Amino acid sequence: MHFETRAIHAGYDPFDHWGAVNPPVFLSSTFAQSSPGKHQGFEYARSGNPTRKALEDLLANLEGGEHACAFSSGLGATDSIIKLLSSGDHCIVADDVYGGTFRIFDKTYRRFGIDFTFVDTTNPENVAAAIKDNTKMLFLETPSNPLLKVSDIASLAKLARDKGVISVVDNTFATPYLQRPLELGADIVMHSCTKYLGGHSDVVMGAAVTKESKLHERIAFNQNASGAVPGALDCYLVHRGIKTLGVRVDKSCDSAEQIVSFLLEHKRVTKVHYPALKEHVNHSIAEKQMKRFGAMISFEIDGSVADGEKVVSDRRVWTLGESLGGVESLLEHPASMTHASIPKEMREKAGLRDGLIRLSVGIEDSRDLIEDLRKGLESY
Ligand SMILES: *Cc1c(COP(=O)(O)O)cnc(C)c1O
Repeated sequence: MHFETRAIHAGYDPFDHWGAVNPPVFLSSTFAQSSPGKHQGFEYARSGNPTRKALEDLLANLEGGEHACAFSSGLGATDSIIKLLSSGDHCIVADDVYGGTFRIFDKTYRRFGIDFTFVDTTNPENVAAAIKDNTKMLFLETPSNPLLKVSDIASLAKLARDKGVISVVDNTFATPYLQRPLELGADIVMHSCTKYLGGHSDVVMGAAVTKESKLHERIAFNQNASGAVPGALDCYLVHRGIKTLGVRVDKSCDSAEQIVSFLLEHKRVTKVHYPALKEHVNHSIAEKQMKRFGAMISFEIDGSVADGEKVVSDRRVWTLGESLGGVESLLEHPASMTHASIPKEMREKAGLRDGLIRLSVGIEDSRDLIEDLRKGLESY
């Protein structure tokens, strides 16, 4: 079956639940046993809950995997993935990973004796050069935040596999509708379901998806041992959100394309970062591994921090806020919001100039989104 059909039907059979077309929300922390140790598949809800199971089976199916574990946040998923490693192991990480991913690796797991090297993974040679005898994991994120850089999943996964290194891809920005890393050879897909999968900005959740049972068993062990599990009601909400993933992402991509055309024409916009553009540095890789180019855009104005702040402030249609992937369009100014803690000099070295603005395109009418952006661009 095709993706959007599976998004509605995979992993759940109504006739297991009196014909209910939606998975029931099992608000049960424990499950009765008929005799000691004899149960119907569920014992205690940290280890497993039927609503969570329906979501996990759906996620596994959509990513082209066999198994999935849901977590109480994206970082909860990352935490259980990095715990596949032990003290003395080495992990190579994309140098522009999500800030929270950098923080847990650099501030927490470094203290536990895991060694991290951060490299620009858009060039596979940098990854090859960073591999050491004790390298056990490669952690990628593509497209990345906020410059939408794209790494070649198939080449990097092969490079890792040949060296016995586990490859992980944070697939939050693309979603399985646009990109499926497991089919390109990666070992683990990580998600912040908080974003497109949930899609309505009402849940914080994460997931780790695999093909291989041995790897899954180890992640599921960490899921249960560390306990960062989502509640049944949140699992229901993400399950519901996923049913419209395809239509939401298509609509957002359509609008993103129109907004990019508008930005390219606007005299105050000096640069647009969007992987669909021929001049985007990683355009050809994006074209090869993604169905469409997503609904995240960033662009630059030739202005100060204060000018950037003016463009994003007092918008009527765009919501000023961090996060992404919801039905409502969000915009933010990295220099004064998500990336404000990075000193200006380092920020500029990473290509994050004061006039950079990031957009997450939702599903409102694109004419309203464009009109509101025009007002912002003319406000300084
Ligand atoms: C939000 C996000 C995360 C972290 O997920 P949470 O659900 O906030 O813990 C990880 N990676 C990316 C790309 C994200 O956007």
